[in-house]
Amino acid sequence: MYIKFWGVRGSVPVPGKDTLRFGGNTTCIEVRTSDGQLIIVDAGTGIRLLGIELMKGDFGKGLGVAHILFTHSHWDHIQGFPFFVPAYIGSKDDSGNKLSGGCNIFNLYGASDVDDRLEATLRGQMEHFYFPVDLNYLSAQINFHPLASKNIQIGNTTVMARRLIHPNGVLGYRIQDGDKVLTVATDCEHPSDGSIDKNILELAQDADILVYDSQYTPEEYNPVAHGLQGPSKIGWGHSTFSEGARIAAEAKIKRLVITHHDPLHGDDKIAAMEKRVQEIFPASMAAYEGLVIQI
Ligand SMILES: [Zn+2]
Ligand SMILES: [Zn+2]
Repeated sequence: MYIKFWGVRGSVPVPGKDTLRFGGNTTCIEVRTSDGQLIIVDAGTGIRLLGIELMKGDFGKGLGVAHILFTHSHWDHIQGFPFFVPAYIGSKDDSGNKLSGGCNIFNLYGASDVDDRLEATLRGQMEHFYFPVDLNYLSAQINFHPLASKNIQIGNTTVMARRLIHPNGVLGYRIQDGDKVLTVATDCEHPSDGSIDKNILELAQDADILVYDSQYTPEEYNPVAHGLQGPSKIGWGHSTFSEGARIAAEAKIKRLVITHHDPLHGDDKIAAMEKRVQEIFPASMAAYEGLVIQI
């Protein structure tokens, strides 16, 4: 399994001199499976760059197929989609009908229950109040697949989705290709009673890689518990690197990758957080734009 991070930032893109090392684009992860399937996790602004890269191959000719797993539909996870060039590639007949065999195909998966309506949200952000091009105009074939808590099969790869703790809900994913397992748990908060979310444990058990939301330091998350002043981040739907390390040890994962970096955290701050998490769980690192991991 080949994994490449195209966006690792949380909440909002942050270009600038302080984010050059870890990157400023929001969440997007490319996964290539052993049987050649392309799975993309989230369409934050990082997907724009992935799209430019994909255009050099089959997607530039309208012959590409990809599966996009959405964790949820908050802005920082969908905003890159209108700028994803391969979605515009496809042939149409004189009546505007898409020609089969000549269009890129994108299968989009997201939660259908609660208020997390993926299709409605993606259409909404492309209404002309917000964006000049309607979703129906896209020349690629876009297929929506509502997901509840069930497994899906993409070629030889099994994808398990579970609900995690986040305002309005979020899905975590366990992507299993043979004996290789990637777990993505972003935009998730740990339970306030000190326990570990059982759904995360189920997704992460014995995984090769756990990509985990570590937007805050423990001090930022709960200042009072550390004798500090300042607003608490409890209930905001994000977690800390120390919780990530705790889950990594409990679930016996091989490598922890902390992500969803806070927009207020510059490169030096993230590097310091990386050092701190490595002191707790040595096989840890902070995700950065362009990071490639092969398992
Ligand atoms: Zn987010
Ligand atoms: Zn979110």
